[in-house]
Amino acid sequence: MTDHDAYGPQPRRRTIAVRVGASTIGGGSPVVVQSMTNTDTADIDATVKQVAKLWRAGSELVRITVNTEEAAAAVPRIREKLDRMSVAVPLIGDFHYNGHTLLTKHPACAEALGKYRINPGNVGFGHRRDGQFAAIIEQAIRHAKPVRIGANWGSLDQALLTRLMDENAQTETPLDASAVGREALIRSALLSAARAEELGLASERIVISCKVSGVQELISVYRELARRSAYPLHLGLTEAGMGSKGIVASTAALAVLLQEGIGDTIRISLTPEPGESRTREVIVAQELLQTMGLRAFTPMVTACPGCGRTTSSFFQELAKTVQDHVRERMPEWRLRHRGVENLTLAVMGCIVNGPGESKHANIGISLPGTGEAPSAPVFVDGVKIATLRGNNIAQEFVGMIEAYVAEKFSMIGGASGES
Ligand code: SF4
Repeated sequence: MTDHDAYGPQPRRRTIAVRVGASTIGGGSPVVVQSMTNTDTADIDATVKQVAKLWRAGSELVRITVNTEEAAAAVPRIREKLDRMSVAVPLIGDFHYNGHTLLTKHPACAEALGKYRINPGNVGFGHRRDGQFAAIIEQAIRHAKPVRIGANWGSLDQALLTRLMDENAQTETPLDASAVGREALIRSALLSAARAEELGLASERIVISCKVSGVQELISVYRELARRSAYPLHLGLTEAGMGSKGIVASTAALAVLLQEGIGDTIRISLTPEPGESRTREVIVAQELLQTMGLRAFTPMVTACPGCGRTTSSFFQELAKTVQDHVRERMPEWRLRHRGVENLTLAVMGCIVNGPGESKHANIGISLPGTGEAPSAPVFVDGVKIATLRGNNIAQEFVGMIEAYVAEKFSMIGGASGES
């Protein structure tokens, strides 16, 4: 969604459009969601399984580490297996230190990847750096692949940083060290992009990122990057952390920038909790974009937090049942019902805000709070259509959601209904 008004997000910043498989990064296109595997890429089956899982969760691009000969040799086989499973998601190869060697020695890997990601801070060191960078760009040109030039605070080009520090020290009003660091990060990405173009890589094949781990630093770096460059920007807070800390930090930084129209593709770099699915980072990215009104992926469930007016945990259980049902059904709904991702649902705990919030949703239910009559009015498109009672409220409400989807969201490829 790119529409906006006085209360909405800024229009997407005009950037160059870069095609990666079926996705377009930049050029005013909707923000693309991407993720990264944490399997050993040489373990083909494990990597295929995780890529497929990330794709099913909604990741539109998936990055994989390509760090060894074995990993590079595995890439075309991973691609083949995914294609056989009809998992059409483009794979992005993440290269550090030896990308020039791996891409040159493994042309099938270079061909199977949809995009390469390189880090100008560790593409090579000393006198080897320029040659190794050129070798990667040459492979990108040969195989007609886009490249993300991704500078990172943790692996900043030290030679460039030292030079800027020295120059800064000579000025009459030197900047503080962190400001010089930010400038080094931006220049590292932009100088590398300019060099890639000199080597013959089209600007329509370049994406830029400058990742840092601090929220304020990220906002400041990307605002400046957006001011100085027309390349599409990959946006993400690096090493965001685990659990709520990672989600809050990423959201705080990315929301400010996305609101300003900055950022063409995002990744939420969450550290999974032990046993937690890697798909969490995809869901968080989607929820961020959807709650900001930038894209719609899956029906949203509005639920009240609960308070002393409802001592029952029933409404929490119902909210979870509804949320789980929607996620479970979405893969099929998406194929069958056009626009179903825009469906809105509400599960509320008592009469205070329940009926009002329920009326704003396509389907909403207001459960009885403590001391209220044991009945749950259901609203459809703002009109009260039923009152549920008894032990089957959850099943009946889920059934009403199914009926609404079938009736209101037209069948893809024919049949009746409206949306
Ligand atoms: S809707 Fe009722 S139960 Fe839910 S937070 Fe508001 S007052 Fe509390």
